[in-house]
Amino acid sequence: MRIVLLGAPGSGKGTQAKRLKVELTLAHISTGDLLRAAVKAGTPLGLQAKAVMEAGQLVSDDIVLGLLEERLAQPDTQPGFILDGYPRNIAQANALDALLTRVGQPLHVVVKLNVPDADIVKRCEIRFEQEHRADDNPETVRKRLAVYAEQTAPVADFYARRGLLTEIDGVGTIEAIGDRVLAALRARASA
Ligand code: AMP
Repeated sequence: MRIVLLGAPGSGKGTQAKRLKVELTLAHISTGDLLRAAVKAGTPLGLQAKAVMEAGQLVSDDIVLGLLEERLAQPDTQPGFILDGYPRNIAQANALDALLTRVGQPLHVVVKLNVPDADIVKRCEIRFEQEHRADDNPETVRKRLAVYAEQTAPVADFYARRGLLTEIDGVGTIEAIGDRVLAALRARASA
């Protein structure tokens, strides 16, 4: 199965993707993780991305698409994958469409986790304290939420028009939300 997980920063995409990876034996592809690895490794691309990420802005479409293409060429993605953090704008949604059409592997479903902004802010505060991610500081989280509303929210409509979108209530325990996601995926698979 090929799945896109949509949702604001801190909506639980990474957490849920980790469970789906195990339960459905899929590759978990997080563009945020790929970028953080490039930053940590100090590659030229990572150096370019670092300041943009710390400012809560989106890294350029070309850079992220390059990383994604490389990742999708790896054999563990063949049985299927969960894309977490991509696409983040309409241009990326179109690029993904073109890429997956080219390799004959279209998406099956797009799952959007709905979480109110107030909960997002609280979750990112906790993550900031636990993981010390520079972009989880309260000011940058506000910036990332604004970028999400402006650039990423329209991506949900893009997929809704194609009949691919399923919305999930992303509030509750990690397990309860995961059960909702799995139930929605199973309903899709048997539809
Ligand atoms: P995430 O871990 O998905 O919240 O991503 C952390 C940061 O990496 C984002 O705030 C962006 O700066 C950058 N990033 C991740 N995915 C993308 C993407 N698809 N397009 C542009 N920037 C991205």
